[in-house]
Amino acid sequence: MIQLYQPLNFMGMVYREIKQGVVDIEKMFDVLLKNPEVKDLPGAKPLAVQNGTVTFEDVRFAYDPNRPILKGLSFEVPAGKTVAIVGPSGAGKSTISRLLFRLYDVSGGRILIDGQDIRQVTQTSLRAAIGMVPQDTVLFNDTIRYNIRYGRWDASDAEVEEAARTAQIDAFIKASPKGYETEVGERGLKLSGGEKQRVAIARTILKAPPILVLDEATSALDSHTEREIQDALERVSRNRTSLVIAHRLSTIVGADEILVVDQGRIVERGRHGQLLAANGLYASMWNRQREAQEAREKLALIGDDE
Ligand code: ADP
Ligand code: MG
Repeated sequence: MIQLYQPLNFMGMVYREIKQGVVDIEKMFDVLLKNPEVKDLPGAKPLAVQNGTVTFEDVRFAYDPNRPILKGLSFEVPAGKTVAIVGPSGAGKSTISRLLFRLYDVSGGRILIDGQDIRQVTQTSLRAAIGMVPQDTVLFNDTIRYNIRYGRWDASDAEVEEAARTAQIDAFIKASPKGYETEVGERGLKLSGGEKQRVAIARTILKAPPILVLDEATSALDSHTEREIQDALERVSRNRTSLVIAHRLSTIVGADEILVVDQGRIVERGRHGQLLAANGLYASMWNRQREAQEAREKLALIGDDE
């Protein structure tokens, strides 16, 4: 994503010059992300979203044909439910979200939304139905208001601010020198990973898609920021079909189903309590994170004494 930064700055400039350019910017963004191998079929129809059920059927995928990454994944995210994906780094978690957004086509099996194979519908309609909150959010060198409105260009100022409130980023914005008109980016305000992710959540709230995909930032957050992001996410994922790729297991204890992925396969699945009781990979990840958290809290207490 880093290499996208320059072109996006350029696109920000273009936007200000061509008032009608909003659609074009999204198209350009599409082009930048675009994998030429992913094409609309001749006569592809728009996705008809009924309630937003997502189904993976024996999905296989490799970036390089000699190195399979996903080795047959099957799961369903029922309409309005939350499924979490956890597992070691490199397991293939982010790849799952890229396939659902169709940045790549599966090499085997299929992905369905409300029974429609995502290869059979237009990419535009597919991506309109999915709100992506990626690991690394790209911000434009423009005002914070512009950066949130990117979720839906016709949103009013009041709607932008309401989305920021729901995403728990409003207080931070108001404390900035020019409020919503504060410039972000290289020469302006620098946002932390957690703040950027909340901007992405605010964009997604404006977009109000039936399906939500969240790829949690990997960087450690302090527990206050984590709490704020978690609250924001709970609000945005309520009543939406949500696929959450989680690094901090504390954020997904309430998920309807948790899939533990390791080396491209689902090795455990169930709810938080069931997985703890199974005492496998999930339980060991949970215990490790809990110990790390307790150690941090002890350090914080020592810090407070001084
Ligand atoms: P996770 O999100 O679970 O950490 P990813 O889905 O990002 O894992 O990556 C799974 C595997 O695919 C890793 O071994 C990674 O190096 C590889 N990979 C990811 N993106 C690409 C790419 N664009 N080209 C080639 N290999 C990739
Ligand atoms: Mg990842």
